[in-house]
Amino acid sequence: MTILNIFIHATISAVYLSWDSGFHYYIFIIAFGVFLFPGARLIKGLAAIILIIYYALLYHFTQTGIQTMGEELTYMLHLINMVSVLCIIALLGYIFRSNIDQMIQNLHQMNGELERMAATDTLTGLFTRRKMYERIAEKMETEQNFCVMMIDIDYFKTINDQYGHAVGDAVIVHVSKVIAANLENKGFVSRWGGEEFLAAAEASGDKEAGMLADSIKQGMITPPLLHYNEAVSVTVSVGIAKWKKGRNIEEVINEADRALYSAKQKGRNCTTIHESVEI
Ligand code: GH3
Ligand code: MG
Ligand code: MG
Repeated sequence: MTILNIFIHATISAVYLSWDSGFHYYIFIIAFGVFLFPGARLIKGLAAIILIIYYALLYHFTQTGIQTMGEELTYMLHLINMVSVLCIIALLGYIFRSNIDQMIQNLHQMNGELERMAATDTLTGLFTRRKMYERIAEKMETEQNFCVMMIDIDYFKTINDQYGHAVGDAVIVHVSKVIAANLENKGFVSRWGGEEFLAAAEASGDKEAGMLADSIKQGMITPPLLHYNEAVSVTVSVGIAKWKKGRNIEEVINEADRALYSAKQKGRNCTTIHESVEI
């Protein structure tokens, strides 16, 4: 409607008062609008051709107007129209720029939110597997060695079956908090899978790594997770492997997984250290 209005206004005024009155400048507002706002390229191309033809025709047919004005008045009108159109275009440009800035800001916010979602496990707030790989890669840049711990809740399916899925979730949260609290500033932990956690921690050797695993195991029961004032029995098995400079991290994670498997075989609620390297 606005475009049509401008068109009619510019045409009638130019025809009536001649080209020199400067009403043709209003056509530039349409051109500006056509190119700035979204739309298919083909439509914009067609609109551009129509505008150019229209502008040429308007120029051709409005060299003398129906109404003649004095030269001074025509000049004044020309000036007013030109300045008005410039101001309108500047204002439109400003509005357009502000919208773009707002969109960019929203996009940045959404990007940040997406990144946070991709990095944080919703249930536990721990790192996701993806973020864990990033953090481990950073650690590999700065450290000479560290240990990798694969921690899995024992008989978790039974907990789910016995107490229900909601308590199962509460157990996962409990375990995640205990691991995080025990790692403190020694390392970091991720939720690797359903009821499985992968931690990376500084440890001077097998003894220290074993002690860390023991303190995590102890943390499961002191204090225990309560369900209607009754302690839910939660134990974990831990598999430990060691990374040192030059080692392939995937290999080390596999070793931790195999160590976890043997801890399960040994009867659960225990720790196994993969003995491939000394750190
Ligand atoms: P094991 O001692 O050998 O580790 O036995 P398990 O029962 O702990 O292990 P299993 O792999 O047989 O079962 C894991 C179960 O964890 C199966 C799956 O339904 C459950 N699970 C996975 N993710 C979630 C979760 O987010 N919430 C709950 N409540 N259960 C989950
Ligand atoms: Mg399990
Ligand atoms: Mg498991």
